Amino acid sequence: MNANASTVSALSPEYVRRISPYVPGKPIEELAREYGLVESQIVKLASNENPRGPSPKVRAAIAAAAAGVTRYPDGNGFALKQALAARFGVGLDQIVLGNGSNDILELATQAFLRPGDDTVYAQHAFAVYPLATQARGARGIEVRARDLGHDLAAMRAALTPQTRIVFIANPNNPTGTWLPPAEVQAFVASIPAGVLVVLDEAYNEYLQADEQADSASWIAAHPNLLVSRTFSKAYGLAGLRVGYGIADAGVADMLNRVRQPFNVNSIAQAAALAALADEAYVAESARLNSEGLVQLMTGLDAIGVAYLPSHGNFLMVRVADAGKGAAPVYEALLRSGVIVRPVANYGLPDWIRVTVGLPEENARFLSALGAVLGR
Ligand SMILES: *Cc1c(COP(=O)(O)O)cnc(C)c1O
Repeated sequence: MNANASTVSALSPEYVRRISPYVPGKPIEELAREYGLVESQIVKLASNENPRGPSPKVRAAIAAAAAGVTRYPDGNGFALKQALAARFGVGLDQIVLGNGSNDILELATQAFLRPGDDTVYAQHAFAVYPLATQARGARGIEVRARDLGHDLAAMRAALTPQTRIVFIANPNNPTGTWLPPAEVQAFVASIPAGVLVVLDEAYNEYLQADEQADSASWIAAHPNLLVSRTFSKAYGLAGLRVGYGIADAGVADMLNRVRQPFNVNSIAQAAALAALADEAYVAESARLNSEGLVQLMTGLDAIGVAYLPSHGNFLMVRVADAGKGAAPVYEALLRSGVIVRPVANYGLPDWIRVTVGLPEENARFLSALGAVLGR
């Protein structure tokens, strides 16, 4: 950094300079480059992507949309919003499209937080909540987890007069913990009308039907509720970046004011529309995920490795004891061509998170882990 550049970076607000950036899963290309491995032999189970990829209908929609990229996308995302509004029984003006649901989380903080405000979220909850809070100069209040999951009563009790947003991840990433819909609904009802509840349901499609909350229907009674969902996980579109928020029209309006005019690109809009319609593909992805979770749990039982039962498409696996740390196991797995996710930055130093892959990928992970641990 030269002298002028460091002078400029010092102009950045202190709360921006304190941000420690999000650490993504290691890309396959990077591991191949760094460890001299062949890309086709690397298994990436690090970012909770759908191992089947998008459905054939979605691939066709993507190919068809490619011809239109010379035009700006529809900045209002009319067709996709219309489909979502019909699906959830809400008005078009209650939908906000995002560049991934991460964008929805960011937009909520942009629209509602001032420096000095508070947000509340759980210990071990999704890393974007503290990041988005910090980027606005607000203060994050992290509420101690109970059995590694959200303690809703403690979160309610942690609200201060400065609290503007409460984040709930259901299921949560990275822990895979889940709250019954009735408990979440009662929690939303207990929150003051002047505090926005952001209910992040990125893994909703992986839940069994009787575990899924009809959370959009709560908005009429609770206009301070924002539900966020994504096409990145069960729909298999992580690379295209498209998610959405469902909220009261007044809340959605504020998010729409601060978003970029063309925040969701045209191929993503076309793909998401096709993905939403292909319900059979999502159902099959969820079914295969349940089988994959059983495969992983059975395999871990067989080698005597502990895990936390999960409601998502991933599993937290305990690979070290007493704070010794998972890093050596993570590194050894990398050397054998298996990418998982370290979660020390979530306050879980002895664990790794593994995404449910295809059956042969799960088997690769299990045999590599067994070899690394000498089981
Ligand atoms: C993956 C994830 C998201 C956001 O993913 P996008 O790709 O930005 O839609 C949001 N919340 C949780 C809990 C996640 O795990």
